[in-house]
Amino acid sequence: MKEKMEFKTESKRLLHLMINSIYTNKEIFLRELISNASDAIDRYHLTSLTDDKLEKTNDYEIGIAFDKKKRTITITDNGMGMTYDELVSNLGTIAKSGTLEFLQTLKDKQAATADLIGQFGVGFYSAFMVSTKVVVESKSAISEKSYRWTSEGEDTYTIEESGRTARGTEITLHLRKDEDEENYSEFLDDWKIGKLVKKYSDYVRYPIRMDREKQIPKKDKEGKEIEDKFDTVTERETLNSMTPIWNKNKAELKDNELAEFYKSQYADYDDPAFTVWTDVEGAITYKSIVFIPAKAPYNLYSEKYEKGLQLYAKGVFVMDKCKELVPDYLRFVKGLVVSPDLSLNISREILQHDRQLKKIAANLEKKVLAELEKTLKNEREKYEKFWKEFGVNLKYGVYDGFGEKKDLLKDLVLFATVNQDKPVTLKEYVEKMPEGQKDIYFASAPNKDQVKVSPQMDILKKKGFDVLVLSDDIDEFMIQILREYDKHEFKSINQGDLDLLDDAEKEAIKSKEGESKDLLAAIQEILKDEVKEVKLSTRLSDSPVCLVSGEGLSFEMEKVISQMPGDKDMKADKILEINPNHPLFAAVGKVFNNDKDLLSDYAWILYDQALLIEGIAVKDPVGFADKMVRLMIKAAQ
Ligand code: ADP
Ligand code: MG
Repeated sequence: MKEKMEFKTESKRLLHLMINSIYTNKEIFLRELISNASDAIDRYHLTSLTDDKLEKTNDYEIGIAFDKKKRTITITDNGMGMTYDELVSNLGTIAKSGTLEFLQTLKDKQAATADLIGQFGVGFYSAFMVSTKVVVESKSAISEKSYRWTSEGEDTYTIEESGRTARGTEITLHLRKDEDEENYSEFLDDWKIGKLVKKYSDYVRYPIRMDREKQIPKKDKEGKEIEDKFDTVTERETLNSMTPIWNKNKAELKDNELAEFYKSQYADYDDPAFTVWTDVEGAITYKSIVFIPAKAPYNLYSEKYEKGLQLYAKGVFVMDKCKELVPDYLRFVKGLVVSPDLSLNISREILQHDRQLKKIAANLEKKVLAELEKTLKNEREKYEKFWKEFGVNLKYGVYDGFGEKKDLLKDLVLFATVNQDKPVTLKEYVEKMPEGQKDIYFASAPNKDQVKVSPQMDILKKKGFDVLVLSDDIDEFMIQILREYDKHEFKSINQGDLDLLDDAEKEAIKSKEGESKDLLAAIQEILKDEVKEVKLSTRLSDSPVCLVSGEGLSFEMEKVISQMPGDKDMKADKILEINPNHPLFAAVGKVFNNDKDLLSDYAWILYDQALLIEGIAVKDPVGFADKMVRLMIKAAQ
């Protein structure tokens, strides 16, 4: 029975967008389909290692064939194949949420030529860029039945049973007609296909084979070649070299060979930013190539993302994402480890306890960090680019495990600061501290402009102290774990007492505090449910008020925690600081002496203002507005 089905709505629009505009480099459809075939063979191979019901074999192949008359090109594999359900869910949905919007914005920005297909796991659909119709016949290794999936790339596809008996998948593309500028017939040319395979898929580890017609000189009865006469013979040829790259000598590799390897193996479109090549012989022998991508993969922070390196034991591929090989904070690295010392029948459980693997992992971690350190020192711009993409992971690394890695990582962290255009390391910050600065100051805010104008900056500006700007959620947590750098403590500019006044200034504040004791107590009484303390500020010079938090939790951490599931009762202590040298303070004093009722309005407005400046919502906006109105009327009387 033939069933007709619709693509999921998002898929439809995505498909349309892709076919008609996103992609200009049409030839990559071949790479995408070959990658899928190779993935499917990987899946079969890895499953067969542990599933006795599956035949164990090394007889894998990806085939390419043409029919010039019918204008079709067919790609076959003897991989895992797909069940009915898999055909529906894998080829009927482009389910990665957010992909469509992302592509749409790119298109709107005219950045549509970006090479995006593989990055979004929509590689299969690239077939429609060159085809009017795509037919997929597949038999899963775990199913008796086989199915044919057909679509013309519009709204619908059909599925019916098929007579395929061999395990695996066969994808037939009915090529489009040539148009003015677009030549699709070239994909029916075996030389062109051979070149494309070499270009994009040379390192695919299974043979990619194609029948090729060859002209060989005709021979006479004695076996002598006859001049100008040829026989046409068909030979099955393997198009890719499949040489494991780690078997080559690093020095002999051509310039872009590693980069091409990386791109074809790890579905990236940019060259890797870093390549760390390790070749160790001794107690443990292994080779490894670790890459750091130039850009974070789109799904790096999604739950589905799996970290890990490919694992080859004795040169045989045994695992795709061996997560034991990379710490969480390096989850973005890609690459492989080849070791003759590891067992072929490796299971996930064994891996967790494998001592050799642990040593390899520790070694690789050190290597990667050393490479980053070197770059930070010698190629600052490159490092800053890296930091933009992946810095947050390293910050997480500082924080994770109660800071067990903090000493390894603290000198790799970059901070934006209020006074400097370029981000700095802690070491650089400390080196630039002017005489008299003891502590390292920081402020949490989405950007430095916000910190620059905040009232809490008054005294730091005066002193010429720079301030680290923390804008990632993880930042303050990281700072708390670090506690100090090179014996300099971290201090939030809006927390606790900064202790930056000289003795005379302190004395002056103290005596003012004595004079205004009753006033401060009265304001505190009015705001008693909101603030823990009302006091004269030692950090304000131009601004009338500010809100700071006590020594424990900061406002920023309170915000972050309140967004997390679970216990939300943790609150930062609020302290309202008033600038004793601001004319407003004198005005409040006057109100206190003359009009006790009005003081309540003043106190609340001061507090609400301070909240607003902090970027915290006012609890009762209507009440705030009412008080302002009363005050405005009064001022005009
Ligand atoms: P991705 O490869 O990034 O997952 P694709 O759009 O290229 O995205 O493929 C979608 C899914 O279809 C694959 O994840 C896989 O499950 C399935 N698939 C595609 N081609 C094959 C194939 N030749 N054999 C088995 N499954 C396949
Ligand atoms: Mg794919």
